[in-house]
Amino acid sequence: MTWRNWGRTETADPVRVLHPTSEAHVVTAIQQAAADGLPVKPVGAGHSFSGIAVAPGVQLELSGLTGLVAADATTGRVTLRAGTPLHVIPELLAPHGLAMPNLGDIDRQTISGAVATGTHGTGLGFGGIATQVVGARVVDGWGEVHVLDEHHKWLPAVALGLGALGVVTELTLQCVPAFLLEAVERPEPLDRVLDTWDERIRAHDHVEFYWFPHTRTALTKTNTRLPLEAPTRPLPGWRRRLDDDLMANGVFEATCRASSRVPALAPAVNRAAERLTGNRTFTDVSTAVFTTRRAVRFREMEYAVPAAILPDVARAVVALIERRRWRVSFPLEFRVAAGDDRWLSTAHGRDSGYIAVHRYWRDAEDDYLTEVEALLRDHDGRPHWGKMHTRTAADLAPTYPRFADFLALRDQLDPDRRFANPYLERVLGA
Ligand SMILES: Cc1cc2nc3c(=O)[nH]c(=O)nc-3n(C[C@H](O)[C@H](O)[C@H](O)COP(=O)(O)OP(=O)(O)OC[C@H]3O[C@@H](n4cnc5c(N)ncnc54)[C@H](O)[C@@H]3O)c2cc1C
Repeated sequence: MTWRNWGRTETADPVRVLHPTSEAHVVTAIQQAAADGLPVKPVGAGHSFSGIAVAPGVQLELSGLTGLVAADATTGRVTLRAGTPLHVIPELLAPHGLAMPNLGDIDRQTISGAVATGTHGTGLGFGGIATQVVGARVVDGWGEVHVLDEHHKWLPAVALGLGALGVVTELTLQCVPAFLLEAVERPEPLDRVLDTWDERIRAHDHVEFYWFPHTRTALTKTNTRLPLEAPTRPLPGWRRRLDDDLMANGVFEATCRASSRVPALAPAVNRAAERLTGNRTFTDVSTAVFTTRRAVRFREMEYAVPAAILPDVARAVVALIERRRWRVSFPLEFRVAAGDDRWLSTAHGRDSGYIAVHRYWRDAEDDYLTEVEALLRDHDGRPHWGKMHTRTAADLAPTYPRFADFLALRDQLDPDRRFANPYLERVLGA
């Protein structure tokens, strides 16, 4: 059966698909693949837009390697099997009064897939999900198991390893006491948001905004952390169904489809979306606020630039889109994250601003993504490993101070390139 990723940008026809249910099965799978001369690739939920999860040889499907191994409410440390989907983690942590400190926009990914690509949310005080990793078990290219604690020198590489260093079987996360988020979502003038971006990201816990091309409005989302004991004010069920199911998914799918067939409709449709979306305040448990349902399929590219220049780069991207007159129905998303120590993190060593560019999946390919990519690259941009980009090892190496160290560790853990695929050959070399 041909495997397809969520964004329908990649396919694979593995020689065989295995469903390991234990670390011992993973070890055997790797050793058997080595004997047969086949590469091995674990796949999570297939939510990467890049070819990072493409398995040409043996595909390890991880739905049998899920669940909680251990949780310590006192230290906040939680060990999960690698294939655990993010959306089941809240119910696993609830009895221990814990939560993950930050999340991205959705919760369909596996924990191992999310950390392997550097999945992140927003908040100047918070790193991406891989910064929550304080321990891991990883099986290398020979089938040897390595147990890494937070002090192990390999952990900052393996915690965001692009699937290139081995198959992770367990991850230990540093969690926090469960908390609420107060969400304030508002349409605001784009120029005002960019002029005040720096103050906003310092004044609030989690700040982001969406911008629909062909409009001058930013749809801002500002989330404030509150203790679990604070009063909740969740969205009524009808409002969530109207906003998130009908407007953000059902109506949006119809308008994207129409704009895809008749691109000239995009500006009018986006101006209607600008009027109809984003004006609400609610308070709920953190996961219910961080993540939403995304039913409208799209393709995506995202770059990290130094946080301080995000407003200038955003203005340049807006000007480029207006100058080139591409008809784009999907909004751009702007976020921020704390600098971190993961060797291949897009936020390695610098607070980072993120600019994400989307296309409805049925839209014809044009030069929108490539021209925006050239601009972002010129601003010292680093591409999200799980999203579309055209970078190669040669031009990525200068942007990552620990790139050579990562390659040396890859040589040590996987000298035969058991975990290689065409994407890794492009971004890391053969
Ligand atoms: C609708 C949508 C919304 C998204 N929102 C965000 C967002 O808000 N923020 C963000 O940063 N990204 C976001 N992404 C990107 C997404 O989070 C990443 O691409 C993530 O890696 C997908 O996780 P997955 O479980 O689907 O992994 P996959 O895409 O299946 O795999 C990703 C990589 O992880 C490797 N891997 C998986 N399991 C293991 C393992 N056990 N050991 C070693 N390697 C392993 C795979 O081999 C592959 O290299 C979004 C994607 C979609 C489709």
